[in-house]
Amino acid sequence: MKPGQQLHVVNQLYPYTVQFKEDPTGSHGGSKRPRESASEDRENQREAQKTKAAKQTEKVSVPVSHGDATNTSEGVGHWSQGLKTSMQDPKMQVYKDDKVVVIKDKYPKARYHWLVLPWQSIPSLKALREEHCDLVKHMQQVADQMVEQCPDASSLRFRTGYHAIPSMSHVHLHVISQDFDSPCLKNKKHWNSFTTDYFIESHDLFQMLEANGRVTVKEGASELLKLPLRCHVCRKDIPTIPALKEHLKSHFPR
Ligand code: AMP
Ligand code: ZN
Repeated sequence: MKPGQQLHVVNQLYPYTVQFKEDPTGSHGGSKRPRESASEDRENQREAQKTKAAKQTEKVSVPVSHGDATNTSEGVGHWSQGLKTSMQDPKMQVYKDDKVVVIKDKYPKARYHWLVLPWQSIPSLKALREEHCDLVKHMQQVADQMVEQCPDASSLRFRTGYHAIPSMSHVHLHVISQDFDSPCLKNKKHWNSFTTDYFIESHDLFQMLEANGRVTVKEGASELLKLPLRCHVCRKDIPTIPALKEHLKSHFPR
């Protein structure tokens, strides 16, 4: 391994240039993605590959910069910016107009799971102001249309809403069927993010924005992710995710 040599990690898609850097703490910096588990999320697999490569060579592997931003500053290339890439990808897009684009969620947590994103760059719910009311309303209308045109709309219930504390940058509205029948739904955080008050109904968010000119998230929202598992249909407590998945089959037979 020589300085300047490129490592092609994962299918030659992600070139890394080896740089030598003092790192007395052994820390490689950056932040971990909070939600997706390594097995379901290629981005985390890439992280694991990078860490492995760094350990094997006992050198720090630094991604090639794609502009001003770096990985550690949550700029371009950081996992939290992934929606911005996906929304531009025609293969991910299922609908678009002059204001919004709808993409398939890359790690769907149910049989149908889309994200509605505005073309306008709005990093998070905190940045929403009264002037965005029309846009938020349009996002809801497009979400409703997505549900209407779904072939299983008559047999499945859908919800449309926002995560109180999203992990991904760029405002996005989840449109998700309530079967939660998906291999990507793997843990309590996933479950509670869609079935507790952590999931803010689109209509409620719009009302808050219209009334207050901004969106405020209740304190302690993150604690909701730790609540015990409970079936959203019959309210039964279920001890584990595998047991919950088995239980859901009775409510949503294929
Ligand atoms: P949240 O930020 O918690 O509202 O959720 C972000 C959603 O984006 C999750 O449902 C992820 O499965 C999904 N997701 C993560 N990365 C991507 C990506 N690169 N393209 C499309 N969807 C993604
Ligand atoms: Zn139940």
